Amino acid sequence: MPESLPPDLVTLRDRVSAFIDEDLRPIEQGIAPDAPAPADVRQRVRARSKEIGLFGMTQPRAFGGSEAGPLAMVVARETLAAGNSSLARYVFGPGPGMLARAEGDLRTRYLEPVMRGEAQGAFAFTEPSGPGASDRATWAKRDGGAFIVTGRKVFVSGGATADFYQVLVNVEEDASGPGGPAMLFVDRGTPGVTIERSFESIDGGGHVELRFNAARVPQSNVLGAVGEGIPRAMVNINEERVESAASACGIALWTVEYVTRHITQGHRAGGRLGDREGVRLRYSDLRIETYAARAMLYRTARLLDTGDDAINEAAAAKVFCTEVAGRVVDGAVQLVGGQALIVGHPLERLYRRVRSMRLAGGASDILRLNIARGVIEFNAGRL
Ligand SMILES: Cc1cc2nc3c(=O)[nH]c(=O)nc-3n(C[C@H](O)[C@H](O)[C@H](O)COP(=O)(O)OP(=O)(O)OC[C@H]3O[C@@H](n4cnc5c(N)ncnc54)[C@H](O)[C@@H]3O)c2cc1C
Repeated sequence: MPESLPPDLVTLRDRVSAFIDEDLRPIEQGIAPDAPAPADVRQRVRARSKEIGLFGMTQPRAFGGSEAGPLAMVVARETLAAGNSSLARYVFGPGPGMLARAEGDLRTRYLEPVMRGEAQGAFAFTEPSGPGASDRATWAKRDGGAFIVTGRKVFVSGGATADFYQVLVNVEEDASGPGGPAMLFVDRGTPGVTIERSFESIDGGGHVELRFNAARVPQSNVLGAVGEGIPRAMVNINEERVESAASACGIALWTVEYVTRHITQGHRAGGRLGDREGVRLRYSDLRIETYAARAMLYRTARLLDTGDDAINEAAAAKVFCTEVAGRVVDGAVQLVGGQALIVGHPLERLYRRVRSMRLAGGASDILRLNIARGVIEFNAGRL
């Protein structure tokens, strides 16, 4: 549980809190929270984060990082999110993600530049749905030493500035090899790959839609083998899900503290909102849900720390914690009133952010299906 952390993680938590107060707060003033911070500010945040050992937590030792375990990452991410600083996104260094096990040429051309901070990748998984969608997911056929890739990917975060895309494709079986899902690295600027549309989501994120029009990509750009696309894409899925859950819990913590201050100050109707029983009931719900979410988050992180299989638990934590954050922020808006909906209010921004967390990284109901499948078909999952 959050209160029975070993001494090194208590120190880590205090270090992150001090970093927020002493380093982030003084420089975040005047920076539009949804827009990218100016380059010099990002640079300052990174430099300080490196000095105090946060930057490398997400990076393997082979690249000079400290490769923190799941529980340490949860402590750091939750504390950072509970600071509600717009600069939090620049604190951790780029992790290897699915590139972690890249070898040979892929390691030199993609993993190493990413780890040095010289290149950035973007994930291209999501296929179009609804009107105009093809009934065929993005596919590839072999042609000599290359794949010819055709299709569309509609939600590629950071795709406008990425140097390469990690694209899930379906390879057609033919005489020269098997078919199946494959994870393909496609450089930006490859002939036949075009950005059809750039757009923003309500949380402030920037994304693109990509079209692949018979784009020629070397077969050596497959991560692993054809047929391994899904496991390769999912290789760090537990980390990503627990990362979302930790951020969601941090947001819920910040929000409950905000509401506590609000309802214990004077109200125009006289007295304090917190003196009214109806307000206390609503307020307690925010606390109960946040308490439950944090208990789940820390139990899951501890399971992952032991190295046990906890894929169902990580999925459950992602669903529950992001949904709790949604209800907590929504409840906070209701208790704080109309001012919370004015554009620029911290709750207005969080409201938009938590809404996207229930879809990004796996829609809640799809994860629910995975959890049931884990139990019914693979006999996995704890209660
Ligand atoms: C902020 C943000 C960033 C994102 N970044 C990326 C990115 O970088 N790369 C990327 O590839 N994608 C990205 N996405 C897309 C995200 O992964 C998808 O939105 C998500 O996986 C849901 O897919 P979808 O939008 O196609 O909705 P659909 O798959 O159409 O699902 C919509 C809804 O339909 C229901 N549903 C669908 N299938 C089933 C089923 N089998 N059974 C029951 N109910 C079902 C669920 O309620 C689901 O929420 C991002 C999304 C957001 C919001």
